[in-house]
Amino acid sequence: MKNIYDLTEEDMEEYFINKGSKKFHALQLFNFLYEKRIKNIEEVTTIKKEMLEEIKKDFSFAKIELVLVERDSDVCKYLFELKDKEHIEAVLMKHDYGISVCVSSQVGCNMGCCFCESGRRKKIRNLEVYEMVQEILLIEEDIGQRISHVVVMGIGEPFDNYENLIKFLSIINHPKGLAIGARHITVSTCGIVTKILEFSEFPLQINLAISLHAPNDEIRNKIMPISKAYPMKELIEAIKIYLSRTNRRVTFEYILLKDINDSEACALELAKLVKGINCYINLIPYNETNNLEFRRSNTIQIMKFYDILKKNNVNVTIRREFGSKISAACGQLRSKKEEL
Ligand code: SAH
Repeated sequence: MKNIYDLTEEDMEEYFINKGSKKFHALQLFNFLYEKRIKNIEEVTTIKKEMLEEIKKDFSFAKIELVLVERDSDVCKYLFELKDKEHIEAVLMKHDYGISVCVSSQVGCNMGCCFCESGRRKKIRNLEVYEMVQEILLIEEDIGQRISHVVVMGIGEPFDNYENLIKFLSIINHPKGLAIGARHITVSTCGIVTKILEFSEFPLQINLAISLHAPNDEIRNKIMPISKAYPMKELIEAIKIYLSRTNRRVTFEYILLKDINDSEACALELAKLVKGINCYINLIPYNETNNLEFRRSNTIQIMKFYDILKKNNVNVTIRREFGSKISAACGQLRSKKEEL
């Protein structure tokens, strides 16, 4: 049975029309679910009792469950339990420009990036739309505030759960839904070329981030298996098509891993690779985890890398660090809980 929070406005319209009812009830229901945050369907006052009974029969109202929160001054990490007892994580970060949440898109992940904690556990399943939507609803409930920014950078590869991702994005962006501006939403992919091309046709102005992490195939192949399926040349080609279709800018994420991708030669090669691409590069100090042997580049090396990019006129920032005290690297909280 579908969950009520799986439905986009279009899905609801279709439902009401099929029931011989009125299409405009979709917007009303959206309003009750997301603006008024009703706890049960009886609280809807604008739809007839009989119709509400039908809705109750046709949809589940089940929620995911918040089971653990680790709190720090400007970051909170949430662990949720799903109805099949699986666990997912989300992270809240307080910035001067607002509150952002990093959501998970799958249980486990099949991309197998060597440095990533989440990938140690194979994909169990995709998250349903309602599970992703509720990550945000439950966090807003917990803090009693609205979330202004969403990044799909938690556990999972969002483009490996494309259909649900698109519905999720439509719901959280909808003005009567969670009303989070498209430009405040970022989807991060390890580089599934076919989906980057598909996403370039998606009408919402959502930001795209690419986990690049290497300036060439040789290094990328060693740390990101996806690179064998979609080599650098194809990836860059797809990004260029995305940029020409959307007139937007992409973000490249680049984790600095000691002695793997942090040399000055790598920085130069990276600058060359992105030349002429409307992008900015986000350098990420690696969050070390107990289970993997990758090490973070030291600060001097990070600064050197940064300077080389700057000198070569690349837009570059170093990611502000959140939550290395609490288990904020992807997948760490769940690993702790399940002691994998
Ligand atoms: N599958 C998507 C989104 C999830 S990963 C993607 O690959 O983009 C989100 C980001 O966190 C990616 O850039 C990923 O490479 C990075 N990441 C994973 N483990 C990390 C760690 N221990 N420290 C810092 N960044 C990490």
